[in-house]
Amino acid sequence: MSYQVNEKGYYGDFGGAFIPEMLYPNVEELRSQYLEIMQEEDFQKEFRQLLKDYVGRPTPLYFAERFSQNYGAKIYLKREDLCHTGAHKVNNTVGQILMAKRLGKNRIIAETGAGQHGVATATVCALMGIECIVYMGEVDIKRQAPNVARMKMLGATVVPATSGSKTLKDATNEAIRDWINNPLDTHYIIGSVVGPHPYPDMVARFQSVISEEVKTQLKEKEGREAPDHVVACVGGGSNAAGIYYHYLDNAKVNIIAVEAAGEGILTGKSAATSALGREGIIHGSKTLLMQTDDGQITEPYSISAGLDYPGVGPMHANLFRTGRGEFISITDEDAMAAGLQLCKLEGIIPAIETAHALAIFDKRKFKKDEVVVVNLSGRGDKDLNTYIEHFNL
Ligand SMILES: *Cc1c(COP(=O)(O)O)cnc(C)c1O
Repeated sequence: MSYQVNEKGYYGDFGGAFIPEMLYPNVEELRSQYLEIMQEEDFQKEFRQLLKDYVGRPTPLYFAERFSQNYGAKIYLKREDLCHTGAHKVNNTVGQILMAKRLGKNRIIAETGAGQHGVATATVCALMGIECIVYMGEVDIKRQAPNVARMKMLGATVVPATSGSKTLKDATNEAIRDWINNPLDTHYIIGSVVGPHPYPDMVARFQSVISEEVKTQLKEKEGREAPDHVVACVGGGSNAAGIYYHYLDNAKVNIIAVEAAGEGILTGKSAATSALGREGIIHGSKTLLMQTDDGQITEPYSISAGLDYPGVGPMHANLFRTGRGEFISITDEDAMAAGLQLCKLEGIIPAIETAHALAIFDKRKFKKDEVVVVNLSGRGDKDLNTYIEHFNL
């Protein structure tokens, strides 16, 4: 049994492409060509070159000695925080901008919630000199002013979504509407392993460079390619998909997925999809989804904007359903404490999303000689105000 996508675009019961008829040509164009394009020698060469020279890959696999001593396990950190723009998201946007070029598209659209994916998209559009339109909820535009400014500096047009709750979901609706109206010249860059097939698989493949590097780096340091555990936080699930990818079908590697419990799973202010979600359809894909009894999507909550999402990608829904993945949820409070702990012990200020993954060491025991690789998905510069408020710094 494989935990990779099948030819129909499913991970077990989850995935597929549940899209309006009018979107079919766009999605089908991508679906019928993405694998072939990604396998072209020319494409790989350009992708690899940009990852190296522009993004700054390979990112280090760092043995966190003091952190390890503190928790009694051999803990390695995969330093995606050192990527250009400060997180893993750029791996995917570099890949998708090259895909767009091969498909003959000269206009890029994206949706963004907290603005991180918008910034990563605006960055690669500037790099390639391609027009970039980012849809963002009006409420989020107010909350995330620095990222709006970044996108504008990078030459993107930020379009406010003014319907519904004026947040990510509404921005996504606007982006889809745009794509339906501009099928010929426009590529829609989705920022995580979500959306209709082939997006979850395509994004996972672009992010899989993370575990590809870990294999080589761990071999050098530990004499083996596979750790005992891989750990990542899950919003939509792209940094997790990247670090799990080459270990998915290796049963000896335990997969740990960390979700945001917010103020607590049962408080009504949470984003712990595996604990609270039921099967449903969001953004064109069948997955686990936080919803009311009559199927309305529940507003998620987490202190970290990147984990504040009511679903998870279909790969992760399947890892949960089949028991292949171990799912843990972490509250705001515990994540913040773990973030500060990493600062003190290792001199690394993590993104609050990432801090959720680090917090499991207070909850779950490992054996002293077990090798645990944690994806350090991003750096904490963007979260400084939240840290300041939380700790009265
Ligand atoms: C966006 C983001 C996440 C969550 O997105 P995934 O698709 O689940 O990886 C996690 N960490 C950081 C630093 C982010 O910017």
